[in-house]
Amino acid sequence: MTRCLGLILCAAIAACGGGGSPTTPGTPSPTAPPFSGTIFIDPDIITPADPTTFAGVTAKGQAVRTMFDRRANAFIQVQAYLFDAAFSDGLVAEVQVNPEFGSVDAARIQAEKYALVIGRLPRALRVSVATVWIHQGVQPFGGGNNNLLIHVGQGDLYIADGILEETFVHEAAHTSLDPAHASASGWLTAQARDVNFISTYARDNPTREDIAESFLPWLAVRYRSSRITQTLASTILQTIPNRLAYFDSLGLVMAPVQ
Ligand SMILES: [Zn+2]
Repeated sequence: MTRCLGLILCAAIAACGGGGSPTTPGTPSPTAPPFSGTIFIDPDIITPADPTTFAGVTAKGQAVRTMFDRRANAFIQVQAYLFDAAFSDGLVAEVQVNPEFGSVDAARIQAEKYALVIGRLPRALRVSVATVWIHQGVQPFGGGNNNLLIHVGQGDLYIADGILEETFVHEAAHTSLDPAHASASGWLTAQARDVNFISTYARDNPTREDIAESFLPWLAVRYRSSRITQTLASTILQTIPNRLAYFDSLGLVMAPVQ
């Protein structure tokens, strides 16, 4: 469970505009990453108007659960409000809500609010999400541990910036893609061939953050090219072409994104 500590998305990293220097395909040379972090590259890659697979939550009462809480920077044991969140493609996640919300009705509002958004993620990113933790507070979200970690104060900030879905793409990539791919030989080869990184966050944490940082840009150029600028698309395509090809090769199930 401690692995969660390593899977931190730093909410403080700021958006960074501008494209990288043009590179000649096949002969990249080291350049500065074009972005500081990729959850900020475009708020419209997945939006609240997009379809969701969320099918509903079922209350299961309260029981002891061990949840990571960034405010304590520790795992805590609480009598969590429990809900099963069902998705229309058959996936189910147990949503564990901190009892600090005060009532099952208040907890259900949070469970439904966030499961609705998680349901917009491609199945390939939801497939390993067994549990969801929901707390109050303004703290970065997290992924890994077959889990998604939510602090609702931070969630409101992500909503205000239009990047709640994009943030979940990053975190769920940790949860569902890192275990099989972050150390895969094909991925390591792609990293080496690209030379460069899509963000400084990925460059500075190449084994922990590169899959999560690169996946949203891949989704943007492959499935949302009509929503992003040509400049953004060109920057992604020129910076990490081998990583994009790696994701292409996986045959990921992208519904309901496509
Ligand atoms: Zn991350």
